[in-house]
Amino acid sequence: MKGISGIIDKALSRPRALSADELEALLASDDEGDRRAVREAAYALKLAKCGRGVSLRGLIEMSNVCAKNCYYCGIRSGNRDVRRFKLSYEDIMRHAGIVMRSGYASLVLQGGEVESRENTEFVAKVLRGIQELSGGSIGVTLSLGEQTEEVYAEWRAAGARRYLLRIEESDPEMYRKLHPETGHSCERRKECLRALRRTGYQVGTGVMIGLPGQTFRHLASDIIFFGDMDADMIGMGPFIPHHAAPVGKGICLTPEYAGRQLELGLRMISAVRLYLHDVNIASTTALQALAPDGRERGILAGANVIMPNVTDTERRRDYLLYENKPGIDENADSSRKALEDSIHAIGEDLLYGRFGDSPHYAARTAAAAERNG
Ligand code: SAH
Ligand code: SF4
Repeated sequence: MKGISGIIDKALSRPRALSADELEALLASDDEGDRRAVREAAYALKLAKCGRGVSLRGLIEMSNVCAKNCYYCGIRSGNRDVRRFKLSYEDIMRHAGIVMRSGYASLVLQGGEVESRENTEFVAKVLRGIQELSGGSIGVTLSLGEQTEEVYAEWRAAGARRYLLRIEESDPEMYRKLHPETGHSCERRKECLRALRRTGYQVGTGVMIGLPGQTFRHLASDIIFFGDMDADMIGMGPFIPHHAAPVGKGICLTPEYAGRQLELGLRMISAVRLYLHDVNIASTTALQALAPDGRERGILAGANVIMPNVTDTERRRDYLLYENKPGIDENADSSRKALEDSIHAIGEDLLYGRFGDSPHYAARTAAAAERNG
């Protein structure tokens, strides 16, 4: 097989050029010179495909009520120690106002998974409310788990433009180890991603990185899965243990462990950029949980999106997906200023006032329009 520089050249020649073996080699190399070359090639490709600048989405954690019991998650239904909350319509509109005042032209509504008529209508009302409040100037991303195609279509019609649904782990056997037998199915999650595509969303998916038992081979297959799904956006983050979750029980969040998880997360960002070229890639909060400059390093590894948390600080304590989640004591204004400074320090800018749509989505919809005459 080629050395790392040969693999990088092949990756740059066209999207989805690499084999699983080559992706695995890209992820696994511990040579510091190789690592730097991979990061620099991925960052140069980010600049070429997405430009200099970081797209922004204000993150609103709208509810921690969840029907699912994912074995890695701090707010899973089986954790009885969580104080459950659901933001009211007025509260969400107030948060949307914070997003607008911050100058972000996109927001993400994220929460636990609830499948009910009442919830569907509530979310649709919120989506219409945000359109009205902003005069259509805010692009809304939803991250509310698995739903039927009809529900996705209803929310799309009410104004949502993007949807994030991580596959979490694309290998069915690993998926089974991470989730209970009842109510969780890798196949249904994949079908949901296809339904989101059919209903016209910009579709985002992703995985947790550095899960116990996960190998470089699994991660290479996950990246190939993103390509096969023709994803527009990728949101991935390192796995971080939570004291009340069975996955990762006994793992201590030592500085060494945090360093390794961060490094793995950065390697995945670079490998995904080199494989998919023009997708939006988020530099997620989990990177920041592992190092104060984690998100900035994610940008330099090839990511182009940051999602600052705008949720009220007292609510954030109840939305702990994992230990050490950052920003618990910050308010939205102070964290925005700090982010602006740190992004300038790496030679990038925050893209205020832009939807920040995925270049991949623009390219594939233009190609489809051309095909249809
Ligand atoms: N309920 C929705 C969205 C909220 S959870 C859903 O699951 O799709 C958002 C993300 O948090 C999940 O996709 C998962 O990848 C991540 N997450 C959960 N527990 C985590 C942990 N212990 N470490 C890192 N990320 C975690
Ligand atoms: Fe619920 Fe999402 Fe956590 Fe799973 S990862 S328990 S679906 S909030």
